[in-house]
Amino acid sequence: MVHRFDAIVVGGGGAGLYAALELSPHVNTAVISKLYPMRSHTGAALGGIGAALGNLGEDHWEWHMFDTVKGGDYLVDQNAAEIMCQEAVETVYQLEHMGLPFDRTPEGKIAQRPFGGHTRHYGKEPVRRSCYAADRTGHMILQTLYQQCIRNSVTFYDEYQVVDLLFSEGVCCGVVAICLETGEFHIFHAKAVLMATGGFGKMFKITSNAFTLTGEGVALCLNHGIPLEDMEFYQFHPTGIYKMGILITEAARGEGGILRNKDGERFMERYAPTLLDLAPRDMVSRFIHMEVREGRGIDGKDYVHLDLTHLPKDAVESKLAETCDLARTYLGVDPVTQPIPIQPTAHYAMGGIPTDVDGRVVRDEANTPVPGFYAAGECACVSVHGANRLGTNSLVDILVFGRRSGRHATGYIREADWPPLPEGPDASARQQFEAILSSTGGESVGAIRKELQEEMMDKVSVFRTGAGLEAMSRKIRELRDRYRKVQVRDKSKSYNTEMLEAWELGSLLDLAEVTTLAALERRESRGGHFREDFPERDDANFLKHSLVYRTEKGLELSHKPVTITRFQPQERKY
Ligand SMILES: Cc1cc2nc3c(=O)[nH]c(=O)nc-3n(C[C@H](O)[C@H](O)[C@H](O)COP(=O)(O)OP(=O)(O)OC[C@H]3O[C@@H](n4cnc5c(N)ncnc54)[C@H](O)[C@@H]3O)c2cc1C
Repeated sequence: MVHRFDAIVVGGGGAGLYAALELSPHVNTAVISKLYPMRSHTGAALGGIGAALGNLGEDHWEWHMFDTVKGGDYLVDQNAAEIMCQEAVETVYQLEHMGLPFDRTPEGKIAQRPFGGHTRHYGKEPVRRSCYAADRTGHMILQTLYQQCIRNSVTFYDEYQVVDLLFSEGVCCGVVAICLETGEFHIFHAKAVLMATGGFGKMFKITSNAFTLTGEGVALCLNHGIPLEDMEFYQFHPTGIYKMGILITEAARGEGGILRNKDGERFMERYAPTLLDLAPRDMVSRFIHMEVREGRGIDGKDYVHLDLTHLPKDAVESKLAETCDLARTYLGVDPVTQPIPIQPTAHYAMGGIPTDVDGRVVRDEANTPVPGFYAAGECACVSVHGANRLGTNSLVDILVFGRRSGRHATGYIREADWPPLPEGPDASARQQFEAILSSTGGESVGAIRKELQEEMMDKVSVFRTGAGLEAMSRKIRELRDRYRKVQVRDKSKSYNTEMLEAWELGSLLDLAEVTTLAALERRESRGGHFREDFPERDDANFLKHSLVYRTEKGLELSHKPVTITRFQPQERKY
């Protein structure tokens, strides 16, 4: 079945919905989402969205930009960060005008709370910059945007999974999707396609990410000749629930929560005397690991405590309602009276599909755009987060750049002719799924995925070494050989999740391979990428973005420069 829309948005999270909102008044727009949109991971975002409103103390977008650049360990493209921090302010007001129920100050302004790495006067002291709706900010963002999309008559294809991208003579002209209910293939012919498929934390065993974040949108780009940018930078959030990875939001520390080791010591005093528990995430995660390594984990184990017990009960219950629920449900711990056992958890992909500041996907070191092809949100790399993202900056990123790419695509669609569809548009996708269904190789999806996640957690997490990364490369080759023999038992058409998981595993293997290669080649430590064998940042050799291409010979690595405008690289102290 062939459908025709001016614009196809792949993904119904915050980035996709904001793009659709911009497109839909002007051009015929459809959102394709493998999940019902309200189930997108944006709905799990808790702590808030950063914008220099200055509602509770002086603040300026320049300070926000400085924090973003320094937080990203100077690998941030500063032209993009400037746009993001400026437009964050109007974006938050727009959400307010659309009806988002932000928490309020006593005078009725949008309330703001402190968050990691956000400061006033270029690093002097913490600032209140995170706008929030209790600890349900992402949920409220999704609700608000979805309502507006319905009002604009956006067409939604819910529970359709995109399994291939279509190009004709270098111009993007649509996608192929499977309808999960019927198992049928659908071809979507479009003048512009916008990828907003989110992150891929499921590469790792302990992660805050939903089961659905398997990265196929990013892997599809790689396999269609688009390089992936800065994939070695994967963020570990300091406070995941011990052993489970479920996130305890940074807002818990923003509201005054303290990290303590087995001696009850507030160990962040030793590492980051100014920002303490609100230092950037890459640092806090490293320091937790160091405490554990030096034998100061709780009961000698690999976790520490997040302590909220000194905070007023009412504040904890109201501003951190979801957090209380999570701790009570999953741990049987009441945060009002007991400390929460936490350990770092794989959380956020700084890298992804390279784009310019209008969301256009670029295909090389010279930033040449691919006509008709856009990406925004966590799947994209603009790059505003550089080597490490600050808390609250993803919601800003997805909305600011979702909106900008929607706008740019509208202009493009008005000018562009209809690109033809290639011959047999769904042939390649059909062939891949037929191969999965007919395989008799005997390998199980679950077993390969488990091994991949465990090994990635062990070798490509907070601390990395050359030897570990080489071992991971070998492991991925072995897992790939086994993946070729993967066999599924369910041969049915309707909601065949086993078949789809088998296919998604291929994307996880692709992205793990790219991440490992880029991490191996970056022989320095910067932001979320820490090499024990190269513990220093090395601006002389590595102040550059990495790009990994899939070629006929295998993966190839190259680089492109970082855009530096206002802030020259400095030492990173907090
Ligand atoms: C627990 C948690 C808490 C967080 N808290 C915060 C916070 O407080 N502040 C902050 O700034 N950031 C936070 N983040 C990060 C932030 O929420 C995410 O980076 C952001 O929401 C990603 O938005 P997105 O629109 O790019 O993708 P998502 O919201 O993940 O949406 C992805 C969409 O793509 C669709 N999709 C994917 N693949 C396909 C396919 N093949 N075919 C069709 N559809 C597909 C899915 O159906 C989904 O609709 C948090 C993240 C987590 C995990």
